[in-house]
Amino acid sequence: MILDPFQIHSCPQCKSNVLRGRLTSGNAIGATFYSDGDMFAPMLPEFPMVTECQCCATIFWLHSENHIARISLYDDTRLTDNIPVAGSISAETCKRAITETHYNNKDEERYLRIGFWRIINNELRINNRQSLKTELFTFWEDNINHLITMMIDSEDDNDRKLLAELYRNIGQFNDCKRELSSLCPKEHSNFINRLYRECEINNRFQVEL
Ligand SMILES: [Zn+2]
Repeated sequence: MILDPFQIHSCPQCKSNVLRGRLTSGNAIGATFYSDGDMFAPMLPEFPMVTECQCCATIFWLHSENHIARISLYDDTRLTDNIPVAGSISAETCKRAITETHYNNKDEERYLRIGFWRIINNELRINNRQSLKTELFTFWEDNINHLITMMIDSEDDNDRKLLAELYRNIGQFNDCKRELSSLCPKEHSNFINRLYRECEINNRFQVEL
């Protein structure tokens, strides 16, 4: 795994700085894959594209407009000592980002909606559904319906896989199976077989592949 120099971004509201890492190269050795396309890969860390300012709670994208400097890993580390690392946003913050439309285009909206979907999927897989706030569960279902409308006309195989999982998550098992049947059975056999099995037992929630 090779990291790029740290990037420094500035909050557009209060001008506090945050650090963002970036990966030059990594690999998926030892990775765990999930049915919604999420992955936990120790050698392929993900750095957030959007964060919440730790000083003023402004939600902002780590874009070129607020990029102010980069610090080489060979520079004096004291340069970064007092700058917090940009953290991933929580489910509550991600919901706020979506409802307050903190996005500028369809790609940013999709990033936030898929991010929210996967945070809650993970929560539902690990913990009991009753431990999740009702408003987050309701928004999770609304968000799934929104993602379906965003992807329904896509011919991209990855989108068709996401669509199959989205249908399964809201209990539309026949629609899930229809999407699975549109995928190449050789190329996606593990995914297809696993999701079919989960449909047969009426399981709506994220599973490890
Ligand atoms: Zn701020």
